[in-house]
Amino acid sequence: MLELALLSLAPCAGLLAAYPRRVWGAGAAAIVALLGSAAAAVLYAPEDRYLAVGVGIWSVAGSLYAIHLSRREVREHGHVHHKVAGLKAHRGEAAKAAAEARAQSEETQRLHKESTALYAMVKGLSAAISWEEIKPRLEAAVDQYLGVTDFALYVAGMRGGEDFLSLAGRNLAGSPGGSWVTLGRCLQEAALSPWQAHVLERPEKALCVPVLDNAELLGVLYVRLRDASDPRDLLAKASAFAGEVAFAFRRVKLFQEMERLSQIDGLTGVHRRGNFDERMLDETVRARTFKTTFCLLLLDIDHFKSLNDRYGHPFGDQVLRRIGEILNHSFYETDFVARYGGEEFAVILPRAQYDGARRKAEAVRNAIESESFPIALETIRVTVSIGVAHFPRDAATPEELVSQADQALYRAKSLGRNRVVEFTR
Ligand code: GH3
Ligand code: MG
Ligand code: MG
Repeated sequence: MLELALLSLAPCAGLLAAYPRRVWGAGAAAIVALLGSAAAAVLYAPEDRYLAVGVGIWSVAGSLYAIHLSRREVREHGHVHHKVAGLKAHRGEAAKAAAEARAQSEETQRLHKESTALYAMVKGLSAAISWEEIKPRLEAAVDQYLGVTDFALYVAGMRGGEDFLSLAGRNLAGSPGGSWVTLGRCLQEAALSPWQAHVLERPEKALCVPVLDNAELLGVLYVRLRDASDPRDLLAKASAFAGEVAFAFRRVKLFQEMERLSQIDGLTGVHRRGNFDERMLDETVRARTFKTTFCLLLLDIDHFKSLNDRYGHPFGDQVLRRIGEILNHSFYETDFVARYGGEEFAVILPRAQYDGARRKAEAVRNAIESESFPIALETIRVTVSIGVAHFPRDAATPEELVSQADQALYRAKSLGRNRVVEFTR
């Protein structure tokens, strides 16, 4: 009977043996149950045989069920394992994607910062219409956009050619980029054109980038490189920067030209009367401060009214234009020639002494007298009278000086015209 009780426990033993996922354990229990049942059916007495067969059927069926359960567990476990592996792989991919997204967002932020700096720079520069205004904006732009500390920016002088002036710069004491003279020489020695961008290796690592507008060289940007990093990125950025700077330089130059033209008399090409008083005041202050002198010439065309009456106003204009040209060519650039009235001109000669001013006035008088003005079949000659006054010998104020020069001019007229007369008390 004990054997039957043990046989009836075969399915449980199979379940225990099959744990975890050992189907063969349940299989072994089933075989044991089958053999045990067969033996019991044969060996038991006929009155106990039904019981033995019943217990045998139970234990075999139970063991088969145990096999079924353990197989299902194996299947489910495989399933779960597969899912977990899938999730793990997925988690790795998700982490990779997150890292990529983070890097991308950092790059976007960097680009955003850069474009904001570029926008601020363009905006700042576009509002500037003079060199004084543009200088601090350029320095700020170099800081924010290029992010360099050692630089210089040179601007082509009004006379063009190789004449460059320093506009802005920092930290270049002792560097070849510290002045245009040394930078120009450095480029020349290396046979490098300032019209092209260069990465310099000697005498120090630096970038030299032209500020170009339609092949016209408006300026040069010099950047000293502090670290040994690859300068190509910075060169590209510096070139973009130089492009924006070119716009700004062009604008300032246009405004300067406009301002200059607005001060120039359209007919004669000399200064308008507008700046004359201011210039006289400047020269008086300068002469007083530095204990120097200056002279004023007042020039009036002789008998101009009759010239107009006889040959017409357009011919009179032609004469005025030519006399303006002669005056513009006769004086230094530091002198100031203005159209003082209809056919009167005033010339301020800074630092001039009496003798020099008188000689200059005489040369101009002579040049005008020698000029021929053809009209129809005639050739007309025109003469001028000139009054000269000296600061501080003849006057203590600008108004007084004008008045003394005017008196001298009046005397020249009354003495017969076509002459230079200096003021005498
Ligand atoms: P003088 O100075 O020798 O005493 O004689 P003037 O005939 O030159 O004397 P006045 O100063 O009276 O004449 C100036 C003339 O200049 C009068 C005016 O018609 C003429 N004028 C002034 N402005 C212009 C101008 O822009 N074009 C022309 N064609 N004539 C002008
Ligand atoms: Mg006059
Ligand atoms: Mg006159």
